[in-house]
Amino acid sequence: MIAWLGLGGNLGPVRATLVRALRELDQGPCRVQAVSGLWLTKPVGPADQPDFLNAAARLAVALGPGALLERLQELERRLGRRSRPHWRERELDLDLLLAREDGPLLVAGARLALPHPGLCGRAFVLEPLLELDPDLRDPRDGRELSLDVRRLRAQEPDAVRRMEDPGWCRS
Ligand code: AMP
Repeated sequence: MIAWLGLGGNLGPVRATLVRALRELDQGPCRVQAVSGLWLTKPVGPADQPDFLNAAARLAVALGPGALLERLQELERRLGRRSRPHWRERELDLDLLLAREDGPLLVAGARLALPHPGLCGRAFVLEPLLELDPDLRDPRDGRELSLDVRRLRAQEPDAVRRMEDPGWCRS
């Protein structure tokens, strides 16, 4: 399976946590194929919290999507994430955005939804993701995700900004 992940955080040594998460994700049944640049993004929801760092990664995975999500959640906990209300600060957030096996995987569940339910409306997810793979489409209707990025940029031009080139995670 090929899986696209969104990574982010805004608490603690976020850049180092993201580097560590990507190293840990490149083990066992998972291989990191490519990583986007590092983006600085404004928080969505409550504004009284630090800006986020976000990135996207493409993985080759010898697991199904449910087992991959369990692995992501275990990694979030191991790298220090604590439980807080939705849209609040977080040390590390790992989201499974898209996945394909022979074709795109569509899953509709509370524990796992694919594509990720927030995919199309969030610049902090889409900008790094499309930096990685600009031609990605919404698997539900084949719509180019670049159309959503253009709409989001017009709505809020300063919401996200790229801080570092894709080599950031090797430093
Ligand atoms: P959050 O960490 O706040 O983004 O939300 C995590 C919750 O969303 C968990 O309860 C997950 O089971 C659920 N969830 C549903 N679909 C996904 C997905 N594609 N990636 C990550 N979490 C998901």
